[in-house]
Amino acid sequence: MFVVGEIYRRRDLHELFGGQRQGGISTPSGQNFIMLFTGNQGKQYGYNHGWSEEGFYLYTGVGQQGDMAFKRGNSAILKHAANGKDIYLFENDSNGNVRYVGEMVCTGFREVRGPDIDGNDRRVIVFELTSADAFDGAVEVDDEDERMWKEPLGKLRKQATASYMSKKIPSERRTLAISRSKAIRVYALKRANGVCEACGKNGPFRTSSGRPYLETHHLRRLCDGGPDDPLWVIGLCPSCHRRAHHSADKSEFNHRLEHIVERKERRRVKDQRSGIDRRSGKDRRSGKDPRSGRNRRE
Ligand SMILES: [Zn+2]
Repeated sequence: MFVVGEIYRRRDLHELFGGQRQGGISTPSGQNFIMLFTGNQGKQYGYNHGWSEEGFYLYTGVGQQGDMAFKRGNSAILKHAANGKDIYLFENDSNGNVRYVGEMVCTGFREVRGPDIDGNDRRVIVFELTSADAFDGAVEVDDEDERMWKEPLGKLRKQATASYMSKKIPSERRTLAISRSKAIRVYALKRANGVCEACGKNGPFRTSSGRPYLETHHLRRLCDGGPDDPLWVIGLCPSCHRRAHHSADKSEFNHRLEHIVERKERRRVKDQRSGIDRRSGKDRRSGKDPRSGRNRRE
């Protein structure tokens, strides 16, 4: 959509797509992406924003007063993959112009201390953004992934939803994010179980490993690469896959596909919407399942 290295007028971007015209994080409603703009943050907190030696783009969160929190824009960055949003990063150039850096994936964050607007010491969130290019290798599901294929669906789903943010070392967070992206694709294909999740027909032929051939399609993105969440990936026959990208009714078709996946992943959707940490066994052990409470109210 944007050309890397190209200069854009920020005002034009907002006229085209909407979103907040001020500040670093812009979340246009109704769009499947968020836009990040860099300023001169970072220096005042004692680190250089921009590309780090480890290959991350360090991006300071927003919030002027007190501890920075995972609210609004910061939350939008943290949960972008789960929400099916891409991140487009721009660096401020001059006179309201911005230069497109590229599509990024939030693979983690770190916390530093620094002054707020009143000069008080507070928590500052610094996001670790990884270029979406790093995820390209995860697009193709092949024989190499034999180990993943052999995992039971439940276990694979665990891998597909594993929290990479909790890893201690930034590079481990990134590695896990990339392998998770692959697990999600294998998971979607296993969920499809050899049958196109759209038209219900069998995969048209068998692969060299003997499985019915299906392709993974990303429901929110123009291309099929990038970071993921099981909610936004579906297993399709080649014909339905082409339809999802090239047909006259592609937006309606993709919408229908979203509903199909949502039905299959219903329980997860509910958890996600009610903000329950699926990985915490606490509620289950205590016998208090927040889900049943929710059901009763409905
Ligand atoms: Zn199909």
